[in-house]
Amino acid sequence: MKELEDRIRRDGTVKPGDVLKVDAFLNHQCDVTLFDRMGAEWARIFADRHIDKILTIEASGIGIACVAARHFGNCPVVFAKKTQSINLDGDQYTARVYSYTKQKEFPVIVSKRFLTAGEHVLLIDDFLANGKAMSGLIDICNEAGVKIEGIGIAIEKGFQRGGKELRAAGYDVASLAIVKSMDGEKGTVEFA
Ligand code: 5GP
Repeated sequence: MKELEDRIRRDGTVKPGDVLKVDAFLNHQCDVTLFDRMGAEWARIFADRHIDKILTIEASGIGIACVAARHFGNCPVVFAKKTQSINLDGDQYTARVYSYTKQKEFPVIVSKRFLTAGEHVLLIDDFLANGKAMSGLIDICNEAGVKIEGIGIAIEKGFQRGGKELRAAGYDVASLAIVKSMDGEKGTVEFA
């Protein structure tokens, strides 16, 4: 998606440890018009799929998933939580995920009330790096017995292994921008 690539070039910054910072438009300040066009693009890519529900992970997935849902018949959006809380009652699906950016493990939790066996689910997230967050969501989907129709990613870091592994496992991964390489010193980002 050229518009997203241009925006990353313009407003993204490369941080040490191969981290791309896009907080000016994606995961702190949100450009909702851009989110809307991203949602339209996923809807075009997954036009032949029936989607009952979108599943994402807090926090940065929520905004893009909610706007994307407008392009998938206003389907419900469920987001996995990363912390236990007294508001999370009843039975839950949980998986453990290692965070690349925070360099620590955290749980992903979805209430059993919001995933029903047989539902057709689209997974959405802001970044795909080593694929740990997606693996956690996939584990939960498998436990719940829902069908994963596809995976929509805003920015895939193609030089990390997540995208390759998910595609090899047979998942339909639609990344709107795939970063081939980044140079922290020059501040440049190359796309696939
Ligand atoms: P993975 O689990 O695929 O290794 O990493 C994906 C998750 O880590 C995303 O949910 C995202 O929040 C975070 N992440 C990974 N790499 C980056 C990055 O370069 N920039 C930002 N902003 N987040 C990242």
